[in-house]
Amino acid sequence: MAHWTRRQVLAQMGLAAAAVHTLDPHEICCTMAAHAQTADKDLFELKKVGDGVYAAIAAPRFKTNCNAAVILTDDGVIVVDSHSKPSASRALYAQIQEISKKPVIKLVNTHFHWDHWQGNESYAATNPKLEIIASQNTKDNLTKADSGVGGVPFIEKQIAALPAEIDQLKADVQKESDPAKKKNLESNLQQAESFLQELKSMKPALPTRTVSTTVTLKEHGREIQLHVLGRAHTNGDLFIYLPKEKVVASGDALIDWMPFMNDGYPEDWINTLTALEKLDFTSIVPGHGDVRPKSHLAFFRGYFVDLIAAVKKASTGGATLAEMQTKVGDELASKYEAGMSKYPVGRYRDRVGQNVEMIYKKVVQKA
Ligand SMILES: [Zn+2]
Ligand SMILES: [Zn+2]
Repeated sequence: MAHWTRRQVLAQMGLAAAAVHTLDPHEICCTMAAHAQTADKDLFELKKVGDGVYAAIAAPRFKTNCNAAVILTDDGVIVVDSHSKPSASRALYAQIQEISKKPVIKLVNTHFHWDHWQGNESYAATNPKLEIIASQNTKDNLTKADSGVGGVPFIEKQIAALPAEIDQLKADVQKESDPAKKKNLESNLQQAESFLQELKSMKPALPTRTVSTTVTLKEHGREIQLHVLGRAHTNGDLFIYLPKEKVVASGDALIDWMPFMNDGYPEDWINTLTALEKLDFTSIVPGHGDVRPKSHLAFFRGYFVDLIAAVKKASTGGATLAEMQTKVGDELASKYEAGMSKYPVGRYRDRVGQNVEMIYKKVVQKA
């Protein structure tokens, strides 16, 4: 019973699958399998990183949720990033309500990627006066046709791609004989199906305020700086800095797993991290992974420096891309594999080949 698909649950409820997207997914949730609700409750772990400042660390899910930063002020709550779907931001909001009954007054999007902003609408629904803040470039990326893996047009791409993923998962479930693996695949299938449903009913909430240079928000009881430091993970990365609490929320420009470079600027990324390092902070709330000390910045930046050097060298030596991917991956493993492979996703071997390709295209070939 815990492993019913969404369709089966709906059939049990006497609802035609075709009628589903007219329902608020929230209304369906309460009749779903019990484990789905438990999972929602356990979606985030709130970790205190300063007085009234929390990191909401996302549990691994089939469709990744980013971490959030939660900042309490005398007037209300400020949240950084909103995950991949409204049900995730609603789950976090319920947790926030346990530490503060004040409304969420500001939401900051660190960048335009799908897993950082697709939950915006749930905060907008709780407060019609919600201010959504992002860099000007991020706001532009959210509505442009081909910005990369995020934005309003990307919602359609996800809707188009998911049925094939769901079919594949169904086939995998049928084939799998190991009970633990089967259970995991069934959970993924259930997550994929509800994700598709959420995408179909999404009402994208876009930034209402943009910044192009560094801005200080004087919130009651709190100073919050929004830093535009240059291109890195995207052309619009925003860093949220609390000078008194010495905390930085870095989005995906600085994370605790392997970087995703497809929409990024690898050489600029190094300089942007160096600019970030000049700020006086002790804790990083990264876009993914766990809370890290400031020293993590040097490790993460070192990967870019070493990767660029290794790809340039291999390319000068006449290696093909495929050869480079293997050679460079092996070369840098002793220094980076352990530190970049702490979670079930975003591990060193999953991404180093893709990273090598990006460096080759964006740095070597471009030069
Ligand atoms: Zn992300
Ligand atoms: Zn990202």
